[in-house]
Amino acid sequence: MHRSELTVDLGALRRNARTLLRALDGPRLWAVVKANGYGHGAVDVAGAALGAGATALCVATIPEGLALRSEYRTERILVMGPAGSNREVAQAREAGLELAIADGEIPEGVRVHLKLDTGMGRYGLAELPSPPAEVVGLMTHLATADSDPEFAREQLERFRTATAEFSHLTRHAANSAATLRLPESHLDAARCGVALYGLSPFNTDPTADGLEPVLSWQSTLAQVKRLEPGQSTGYGRRFVAAEPTWIGIVPVGYADGFRRDFAGTEVRVAGEPRRVVGTVSMDSFAVELDRELPAGAPVVLLGHGVLAETHAAVAGTINYELVCGIESGPLRARRTVIDA
Ligand SMILES: *Cc1c(COP(=O)(O)O)cnc(C)c1O
Repeated sequence: MHRSELTVDLGALRRNARTLLRALDGPRLWAVVKANGYGHGAVDVAGAALGAGATALCVATIPEGLALRSEYRTERILVMGPAGSNREVAQAREAGLELAIADGEIPEGVRVHLKLDTGMGRYGLAELPSPPAEVVGLMTHLATADSDPEFAREQLERFRTATAEFSHLTRHAANSAATLRLPESHLDAARCGVALYGLSPFNTDPTADGLEPVLSWQSTLAQVKRLEPGQSTGYGRRFVAAEPTWIGIVPVGYADGFRRDFAGTEVRVAGEPRRVVGTVSMDSFAVELDRELPAGAPVVLLGHGVLAETHAAVAGTINYELVCGIESGPLRARRTVIDA
């Protein structure tokens, strides 16, 4: 018995891809699978996204691109972040990766996308040079597609003006939030990550945008005990029972990605919402029960109605950070891929 099980539903991922394709209504969908597919497993989600109609894969680093290239021989793979070294650029050239270039030199013999900084204030060229033959695309990244559409529209306007005379090149700006809410951002292609995984780019309920969470995470109660008044659970005695209280111990902790700041969030135990109490440990946490339950009772940490967005709100972070932090290595959890 594993301490916990992660299930990745590629059927849900395909349905999310189709939802995004419907929103795009013509422009291409490029699947963002950086950071091991936002913790879901890059190779699996890339295959499902391509099968559903995505026409390229986007990653952050050249090593991520090389790892995907060994599985996907002919698909377009765009590396959105900066190259680490000349050696990496040579490997990218060899592997036929496409590179986003955000400053200085444009390497030869690699298909490149020039990245313009229109307001993100991060990577990007201040001005667009006359694109040499290596350039196949022009891109920018929006800082506020999820929160301030006015500013996003200003960025788009700058991008449109700067790139107007190069309309023969593939122009792309949209992320998931822009794909869903800003049709004027769609241009030739959209780079979608978080929404593919059924997570809300707005950190609200993903079903509001027709998205289905792809990842679920389950465990069981490892032990059940009754605390008498004055007894506590966990480091620092942060939860002290005021009355006789049944608690269950779940064998998952912050080393698995169940963060310390999830204290107070809700998981489902035997189908019912239950509060996480006390300090989350490295390898376990406690839930408050309303009655004695047997050890082995099922615990849902994520999925089946337990939203990453809810945990993220409790932790003061965003769903993106939460899923990237789940440790799916075989030493901690079992990972299963299904197609439901
Ligand atoms: C991560 C990333 C995306 C995808 O953003 P989502 O909000 O996950 O859709 C798109 N473009 C760039 C440049 C990125 O770094």
